[in-house]
Amino acid sequence: LRRNPAEPEFHQAALEVFESLGPVLERHPEYAEAAVLARLCEPERQIIFRVPWVDDEGRVQINRAFRVEFNSALGPFKGGLRFHPSVNLGIVKFLGFEQVFKNSLTGLPIGGGKGGSDFDPRDRSDGEVMRFCQSFMTELYRHIGEYTDVPAGDIGVGGREIGYLFGQYKRITNRYESGVLTGKGVGWGGSLVRTEATGFGTVLFADEMLKTRGASMDGQRVVVSGSGNVATYAIQKAHQLGATVVACSDSSGYVVDESGIDVELLRQVKEVERLRIQVYAERRGGGATYVDGGPVWEVGATVALPCATQNELEPRDVKSLLDAGLVAVAEGANMPTTPEAVRMLQAADVLFGPGKAANAGGVATSALEMQQNASRDAWSEEFTEARLTDIMIGIHERCAATADQYGLPGDYVAGANIAGFVPVADAVLALGVV
Ligand code: NDP
Repeated sequence: LRRNPAEPEFHQAALEVFESLGPVLERHPEYAEAAVLARLCEPERQIIFRVPWVDDEGRVQINRAFRVEFNSALGPFKGGLRFHPSVNLGIVKFLGFEQVFKNSLTGLPIGGGKGGSDFDPRDRSDGEVMRFCQSFMTELYRHIGEYTDVPAGDIGVGGREIGYLFGQYKRITNRYESGVLTGKGVGWGGSLVRTEATGFGTVLFADEMLKTRGASMDGQRVVVSGSGNVATYAIQKAHQLGATVVACSDSSGYVVDESGIDVELLRQVKEVERLRIQVYAERRGGGATYVDGGPVWEVGATVALPCATQNELEPRDVKSLLDAGLVAVAEGANMPTTPEAVRMLQAADVLFGPGKAANAGGVATSALEMQQNASRDAWSEEFTEARLTDIMIGIHERCAATADQYGLPGDYVAGANIAGFVPVADAVLALGVV
């Protein structure tokens, strides 16, 4: 804590993992002897750089950007880029730390990292976003590569931004190195199902948790926070599995649509036209209402899927959700549930799937994109989605079995933390003091 002042989100993420590791360190004293925890808390490399660019009025703008290469014991650094005004070093470190364990949980050969900038792409023209991305990549390109560090999207970074970033990387390096970024368009090296993967995977994980209690997503009343990439495809998959998603949100407010959110309309409003969620209610007519402010959790649900941002589900939200009959929470976002809210959910015996397990489908499919790039192949939608489904079932099984093994049945937080930690710790030990 002394070494990293003013990084509360990073402290929160690290403490959450460490709280689970007591029993592991007892069984494996070699981890403590080799200072594995200290080595996992200190990123291998942290890059901070200036991004100068010119806006549409001809004014020079300066943003700050980061890439935190956290741990590469299991494979090249892998993790998204976030463009949002709230981005600072502590946020990127919390995300990078989480990413190390999440990537390990997928069972695929990827290390962990994260990056981003305090640039806000909302209300910026296409040209401004392109110039920012080009300037960002003009510095970042020297640090990344198929075998070193492979960024992807996150909040504020979708297919459009990845396209501009990849274009500039290709131009500077004169290499069509598809494996340097994931989340690419399907026509130029991207993988089918990558766009949908995080949201789909979150719902598949929720379904697996529910099955342990003889239930499923079928018939559930679901509330989702956010209306971006993860939220949209979580809604789609929830509907495919027979649930009804009655509400979703953005940072201004939320919509309630008791007949079920219309995913095509949502995509048109948020993904295609980049408008506010309020417009969804206006276009849907009498069927939906818009509520300014929030939180969306006051709508009430049996399954809650937080898919927007960190620390967005608080104790007061847990109270109202429990009153509405909540049975399961699966985190599509990273660390969206506050520590106190997690404790309340677990105390109330609500199934709780932490983000590092429940939202790992995105990075897992990114790793599948890397495999396709390396073999110059393109898999079918059916094959890729089947792989994603197998991976999510595997992650669920690993978390559940690990929790059982450590005498904590049903504790997916402990299961995910321990099952993610052990392979990284073993690799760190095997690679020596490097
Ligand atoms: P998007 O940018 O596509 O969407 C983000 C959504 O969350 C928007 O609706 C946005 O509202 C809302 N939001 C963002 N910040 C805030 C805030 N501070 N307060 C309230 N609402 C906010 O991002 P993604 O869907 O890609 O990411 C969402 C979450 O999922 C993040 O936590 C991310 O780290 C995590 N995640 C994403 C993965 C991916 O593959 N994309 C993989 C694994 C995790 P508005 O439009 O008003 O800003």
